Amino acid sequence: MAPAAITPESSGTTTPTTMSASSLTQAGIKHMRSGSSTQAPLDASLMTVELTKSPREVPHPDGDETKAQKTCTDHMVTARWTQAAGWEAPELKPYGPFSIMPTASVLHYATECFEGLKLYRGNDDKLRLFRISRNCERMRKSAARIALPDFDPQALEEMIKALCARDGGKWLPKGRPGFLYLRPTMIATDPALGVQRPKEALLYIILCCFPDMSVSLAAPAPPALNGAATNGHAKAGSTGLKLLASNEDSIRAWPGGFGYAKVGANYGPTLVAQGEARARGFDQVLWILGHEGYVTEAGASNFFVIWRSKETGRLELVTAPLEERIILEGVTRASVLQLAKERLAKTVGEVEQVDVVERRFVMDDIISAYKDGRLVEAFGAGTAFFIAPVALIHFRGKEIHVPTAEGESGVYTRTIKKWLWDIMYGNESHEWGIVVDEVQ
Ligand SMILES: *Cc1c(COP(=O)(O)O)cnc(C)c1O
Repeated sequence: MAPAAITPESSGTTTPTTMSASSLTQAGIKHMRSGSSTQAPLDASLMTVELTKSPREVPHPDGDETKAQKTCTDHMVTARWTQAAGWEAPELKPYGPFSIMPTASVLHYATECFEGLKLYRGNDDKLRLFRISRNCERMRKSAARIALPDFDPQALEEMIKALCARDGGKWLPKGRPGFLYLRPTMIATDPALGVQRPKEALLYIILCCFPDMSVSLAAPAPPALNGAATNGHAKAGSTGLKLLASNEDSIRAWPGGFGYAKVGANYGPTLVAQGEARARGFDQVLWILGHEGYVTEAGASNFFVIWRSKETGRLELVTAPLEERIILEGVTRASVLQLAKERLAKTVGEVEQVDVVERRFVMDDIISAYKDGRLVEAFGAGTAFFIAPVALIHFRGKEIHVPTAEGESGVYTRTIKKWLWDIMYGNESHEWGIVVDEVQ
């Protein structure tokens, strides 16, 4: 059982912690005094800047160091929060470790949330973020779910842009389109072991080297399985994601839970299932909920199917709905839905009109579409894997081969991916692509 409060209530103000009153900046203090409330808001305009004295070399985008996903750029941004004083002035400073107490709330109670987005170097040599305000708003929702403090999302957006402006120029050199991965994170640093709302937190933003995972990452299947009948193992060789449907004893999210929040507590418990899927030659777990086989998400991306409706005979792009708060409200998901509604509303050439539908659907719907020859395409959509065509779904002994994904992705998946890619890399000028000016 978790211990009751070991430290008395009053100790929050008297116990020395990693954050001392003297670390408050003058600006922060001024801000606190001037406000009507005693809690200072997060304010990007107060950000201090300390540049690194030991700048590091930029690894090759396809090299082992990038694939290891451990390298971040020269700087990071941090901001501390206390219940007593609110947000301190944010700091842009050299990337490196920070210390927290062994009793810190995050280490015991998973009081953590995060975001994931990319900084792109476009084909026009400009730096861009994609719909960043959505990530900042979502982080507020995630923070609220895990008892972390609220903040002005516009301030977070400005802090992210400041880091991108500072490090983007060097770490995403001009003339080489590509991306870095941004990881805004918030942790509760409160050193009180009692199970309670944390009174101290740290928000930080890091910018990381990240491999291009929009191509299949499947571990090669064991040699004996190559080309052979599968016995529950995926065949190696074809492109497109191979998904292993989760079992009933492994549930990612449930009604009334926190599947809609990007909180660390959603990911650690999925790693066993993910590891098993990889060991069997699959790329990702397809998360299934309940006896009825409700299809939710694929790994850490939203899942889409295109099939021909039995009722209407028309093509439908289908994905799970948000209302039950089981799935993550992906920025990529929202963008796919909007573009499909705008641009697939009527038949143009080989691209037929598609109805866009957010609703609950079950594995049996996919299986019957497959058996009737109505299954057209499937793909995962998220920042990390971008738009990833699905080639195979293994569901409790049954294999569903998604037809057009064999060899290459289908026409709808390819078309939607291209639309988004063009906005991210500046081939199409669009309000979703936010240009970031570099610090020279
Ligand atoms: C982050 C994430 C997604 C994708 O969200 P994007 O905003 O599109 O990157 C989907 N599902 C889960 C579970 C996620 O964690």
